[in-house]
Amino acid sequence: MPHRIAIIGGGYVGIELAKSLENIAEVTLIEQNSHFVHAPAMVRAVVDPSILARALIPYDTLLQRGRIVRAVAQSVSETGVTLASGEEIAADHIIVATGSHNAVPFKSNGGDIERLRAANARVHDQLVAAKTVAIVGAGAVGTELAGEIAHAFPEKSVHLVSSESDLFPQHPAKLGRALTAKLQASGVSLTFGVRAQNLQSLTEPFAGTLSLSNGTEIASDLVFPVIGSKASSSLLQSLPGAQLGQAERIKTDAWMRPSQLRNVFAAGDVAEAGDAMTIVSASRQISWLKKTLKAVIAGKNLEDLKPYTPWGPKAPFLVPLGPKIGNSFLGAFTAGDFLTRKLKGTDLFLSKYNKLLGRDA
Ligand SMILES: Cc1cc2nc3c(=O)[nH]c(=O)nc-3n(C[C@H](O)[C@H](O)[C@H](O)COP(=O)(O)OP(=O)(O)OC[C@H]3O[C@@H](n4cnc5c(N)ncnc54)[C@H](O)[C@@H]3O)c2cc1C
Repeated sequence: MPHRIAIIGGGYVGIELAKSLENIAEVTLIEQNSHFVHAPAMVRAVVDPSILARALIPYDTLLQRGRIVRAVAQSVSETGVTLASGEEIAADHIIVATGSHNAVPFKSNGGDIERLRAANARVHDQLVAAKTVAIVGAGAVGTELAGEIAHAFPEKSVHLVSSESDLFPQHPAKLGRALTAKLQASGVSLTFGVRAQNLQSLTEPFAGTLSLSNGTEIASDLVFPVIGSKASSSLLQSLPGAQLGQAERIKTDAWMRPSQLRNVFAAGDVAEAGDAMTIVSASRQISWLKKTLKAVIAGKNLEDLKPYTPWGPKAPFLVPLGPKIGNSFLGAFTAGDFLTRKLKGTDLFLSKYNKLLGRDA
């Protein structure tokens, strides 16, 4: 009898694993939404909603043999997954890849795709009408958003506010310095080492004057709170031995297991395995899981196989500021406009993910 694999979450981890295992196991992918959300393109979609036609990709052409169940998974056990409807999906191996949520309009956050489209349209209209925009949070999403707005709407006044002392202090200083100079040259004003004191929402853009901890104010027509992702880990939190890490991620053992259940794995944003919450990091976990699950299906004992080793701070990190400029940390060196544009800025990996989901690239 073929091994049964249940995968919860059709994000980056879920779709790649389902596709690569469907020919050697009976794969069931459980996903609450009708469409895959390609997050890197959701930043540019705020300035150019036409990109949504390729950034929100239907799941119906993803798998050939495996099945996709459109449902909310409610709980996980050693024998399978229980859906919110009460239906049980029996499985021999379970992978929890429920990812994370972020501010509107970047991710669907449990709502359906039409709500995400409506949020994108609403925020785009607010942006078009705004003269002054403030972005709170200068992680990759906040920094890219500042670059996209400065590129698409050079007449707007854009402020990027960060509580850190520089851009990307965890990476070599050259990366942050180069991006800071490019943003400033595009007219973006950067304020470091301050906190916003009156955020009306942490999850949705809003209008209003922003008060900063250094006593200054930014009279803004639109404020984007972009303060990072939180893992969607509720399914894992109650499992025996589960330990909560940063941003509500669940710590995993050396074989990517988040609890004492021997056949339940977790990967991607929901798992704290020593990697950042990025697609780039998830790709290393996906490769390890593919190889490891194939060996387990072939009869190997999991704990005799090589444990997962995280990518850590050497993981590549690509930061376009609109379609033309940007900088990237590529492990051994920091690349400039040309490579950043080629690798990410021009296409934002839209062709890759449309192809993976069985659509015209
Ligand atoms: C705006 C933005 C831009 C980004 N850009 C980049 C980038 O350029 N490069 C990069 O490397 N990283 C980027 N990231 C980070 C990247 O998106 C995440 O690391 C990635 O999405 C994690 O993939 P995942 O498979 O773990 O989960 P996700 O992509 O979050 O997918 C999880 C899936 O699980 C589903 N789900 C959740 N709970 C349930 C449930 N109970 N039942 C059924 N389904 C469920 C969700 O609907 C979702 O489809 C960006 C993030 C954001 C917010």
